[in-house]
Parts: sequence; structure tokens; C-alpha cells
Amino acid sequence: MTLLEVAEYAEDLTRKMGGEAAFPCNISINEIASHYTPLKGKRTFAAGNLVKLDVGVHVNGYIADTAATIEVDTHINGTLIEAAKEALDGAIKETRAGVTTRHLGSVMEHIIRARGCRPIPDLTGHSIGRYAVHNGLNIPNHGHAGYSNTLEVGDVIAIEPFTTKGNGLVKHGKARIVSLVNNSMNRSDPVYRNIRAQFNTLPFTSRWMNDPDELKQAGTFLRKYPVLIEKDSYPVAQAEHTLIVTENGCEVITA
Ligand code: MN
Ligand code: MN
Repeated sequence: MTLLEVAEYAEDLTRKMGGEAAFPCNISINEIASHYTPLKGKRTFAAGNLVKLDVGVHVNGYIADTAATIEVDTHINGTLIEAAKEALDGAIKETRAGVTTRHLGSVMEHIIRARGCRPIPDLTGHSIGRYAVHNGLNIPNHGHAGYSNTLEVGDVIAIEPFTTKGNGLVKHGKARIVSLVNNSMNRSDPVYRNIRAQFNTLPFTSRWMNDPDELKQAGTFLRKYPVLIEKDSYPVAQAEHTLIVTENGCEVITA
């Protein structure tokens, strides 16, 4: 199958079930960690591919963000996949009001390293707001982040550990996904208004646009999400759930 067939299948199924895609379906293979979405129909899956499927759904701007990693026809990266899942489960168990994001990062790093893998420090989980996939708070995947926040009741967060056997440094590729910067100064511009009417402030991609040429005209209004790639080309796995922080724990809202 082509990547585009799978991405469009996920996005169409989302709409059939009454939601909307909160961002273009991410299909990131091998050393590509995140933010890759197919634009044209040519690239196909191959045996041995380590595939991160990252899907976002929203209903009236309320977002759920989830990811899983699978291998195509092989079983050579099971440790990476399991380490990411176990780290996510470990962090979910620790999540409750009053816990710091640094603690969650530390829990995840411990689990990942115990499996002989490394986390990717530059890739983090995040708080989620209405029409905002990234809403200001970062959830680190390691215990040494230079920032930390205390979680509160009602916080909506996506936790997403990434694992690799490489050094865990990332480099940036060309952006395939963009979103409008929420800036009232731009609201009188017709191109801004037209894009805002279609996608609000949520991430989108050229293949979703009626008129992809508008992307060029909208240059200064856009936040870009470059493709994130493990610097030394080591494969990367990811696991992700979205959850709501409660007094004594959390409610996981993605399956
Ligand atoms: Mn995601
Ligand atoms: Mn996310």
C-alpha cells in the first residue's frame, strides 16, 4: 500500500465516525521520528519498515492525539516498540494532580534505559487546548529537562515517549505540515481568513487545500512543523495517549 492510502483511510474514517482530523495523519518511517505526512501517492511501505502512525481527532476543537508503532512484516525492533509503550504506561500510572512533568520524564527515561534504549530529549509530549494541539506545556521524555510544571486537575496532556538506540539527537527536514499563527493582526488578510475558515488554528497540509497555491501567499502567517529525523539514522519508535488529569489519577481518552 502507499502511505497516502493509509493516511487518507485514517482521515476518512475519522470523518465517517463524526470527528474531524485534528492534524494530517503522520506516517513516519524508520529514522523519521515525527511530522511526516504523505503528499502524493507514490511512496509505498516495505518489509522491515518501522512505522509510527500518529493520529489526531477533534470534535468542535476538542482534540485527542494518539500514536502507535508497528513493523511491516518483521520483528526486529520489538524492544524499541515495547520500551516506548512501557514508558507511556509507566507515566500514565504516575499522572495525577500535583505531579511534576519532570517526574513523568524521569519515570519514562528510567524505563526506556532499563530496556537498553535512549529517549529523544528534543521530542516531547504537550498540553492540549481547544483548537490547540500544542498548548504551552511540554512533557519531557527524560529526567533532565530545564523546565518543569506541576499538573492540575483538568489539564489535558498528550504523553509521547520516543525511543531509539542512537544518540537521540534530531535534525529537521522540510515541513509538510503547517498551521496558522493565531494573530488578530492577520485577520483582515483574505488569504488568512480563507485558510482560517477551513482549518482554524489546527495543523494542515497542502493536500487538504482547495487551492494549494495559497500556501505560498500565506508564508508569513504560518507556523511550520519540520519533519523530525534521528540524526544518525537510527530507527525510532513512539507511543502516545491523550489524558485528562484528575485529583487522584487521570482519564485516558485515546484507545
Ligand atoms: Mn501525536
Ligand atoms: Mn502529540
